[in-house]
Amino acid sequence: MKNWSNEDVEILTLNCHLPIADLMKLLPRRSYNAIYSKIRTLDDNNVKPLLAKSFFNKKITSLTDVDEYIKYDLIQCLECGKWYPFLPVHLNRIHQIDSIDYRIKHDLPAQTPLAGVKYREIHRAKMNKLIEDGIVTHEHLEGAIEKARKTDRGQRATYELERQREIIKKNQIWLKSPRTKIGHK
Ligand SMILES: [Zn+2]
Repeated sequence: MKNWSNEDVEILTLNCHLPIADLMKLLPRRSYNAIYSKIRTLDDNNVKPLLAKSFFNKKITSLTDVDEYIKYDLIQCLECGKWYPFLPVHLNRIHQIDSIDYRIKHDLPAQTPLAGVKYREIHRAKMNKLIEDGIVTHEHLEGAIEKARKTDRGQRATYELERQREIIKKNQIWLKSPRTKIGHK
């Protein structure tokens, strides 16, 4: 049995959302079974980043919590408490929940990325390269944004709404309006 080099493990980790057939193209020396069992082992070995705060069985209650939740190379699955570079595939395969429902259930703002920092950086670099090479154009991206807006359920985290209400209350716009003042004379 060939040992897995750190490089191969990294390729696997960062592309874990791909079907195994595609992973075999990235890792031509590995069989289907070798890749499958390595994914299973890695799933069980992904450990919490040293400084990260665990939100498992706790609630995300502020935007500060959201920042903390997404600031490490691995991101925690709030359904089972395990850590991954990229969550959506795990959520679908293991918990049968999609990213939209997951964000609603755990009170995460609709645009919260469900991937670790390293994963996001690598994919941003890949995307920029595609744009640079003219493979993806800005029209494509606008189409994607429009689609995301249409599928968006207008969801905001409860603490975002609360903060909005507080700002409105604090400003008391209606009291400052000149029309209201005249009305009280
Ligand atoms: Zn999970």
